[in-house]
Order: sequence, then C-alpha cells, then structure tokens
Amino acid sequence: MPEFVDHSPPGECIFCRIVHQELPAALVYEDALTLAFMDIGQVTPGHVLVATRRHAATLLELTPAEAAAVMQTAQRMAQAVQTAFAPAGITLLQANGAAGGQTVAHFHMHVVPRHADDGIKLSWPRK
Ligand code: 5GP
Repeated sequence: MPEFVDHSPPGECIFCRIVHQELPAALVYEDALTLAFMDIGQVTPGHVLVATRRHAATLLELTPAEAAAVMQTAQRMAQAVQTAFAPAGITLLQANGAAGGQTVAHFHMHVVPRHADDGIKLSWPRK
C-alpha cells in the first residue's frame, strides 16, 4: 500500500469530508495525490469523480504534480469504466468556478461512460 500524504484542511467541504472518511462514498481508487469515487448523481451508470486529496478549489490551484496525477487517475478510471460498463464512448468533464458550471468547490474531474442512446448532452456546443 502507498503511504498517503494528506494536505486537506479537515471539515472544509463535502469532498474534503469524503477524503477524511467523515462522509460515506463508494471509493474506487486512491493514491498519494488523488482519489476516485462514484458520483452520487450517476449521470450514466459508472459515472466516476476523480478528485484531489488536497483541498484545491479549481484547476488553477493544482500543483503540476497534482495536475499530472489527476489525468493519470482519469485514464485509469476510463480503463476501468470501459472494462466494467463497455460504453461506446467516455466523456471527461471538468468545471471551474460557478460560471464554468462547478457546483462543488473542490477540484474534480468527471469520467462519464456514454452510449449512443443515453440522451445526455455533454458534447461541445456546435452550430
Ligand atoms: P460539478 O457540478 O462541481 O462539476 O460536480 C459536482 C458533482 O458532485 C455532481 O455531479 C454531484 O452529483 C456530485 N456530488 C455532490 N455531492 C456529492 C456527495 O456527497 N457524494 C458524491 N459521491 N458525489 C457528490
């Protein structure tokens, strides 16, 4: 098992409370810098969130090591989702700030399994 380094201030936000195991979550992966757990909302079955272990509100606050680790974890989760749910595609989504669509101010990336007929509008707006 890796030795975890936890930089999060306790009790500050929902995802910090998940990091600190003060709130239940379906944890699917963790390492020194990131963790991944099932989104409580499940936009499609298998919807995973990749979050930083340390409290950082947005992408702008990540260290280079955290930014790299987040993408490595996202790829790992995409591979796991592909194996477990056999989606036709996978959408990664990452929002920063309320105007960017972020509702939980602790950095996270969505990994969303997609199917042709899932009816979810998560693609780039096109004319
Ligand atoms: P955002 O809107 O910030 O991009 O995404 C926040 C996500 O966090 C939403 O998809 C929402 O369903 C998820 N979420 C909010 N509260 C909880 C919680 O307590 N547990 C889990 N697992 N997900 C949560």
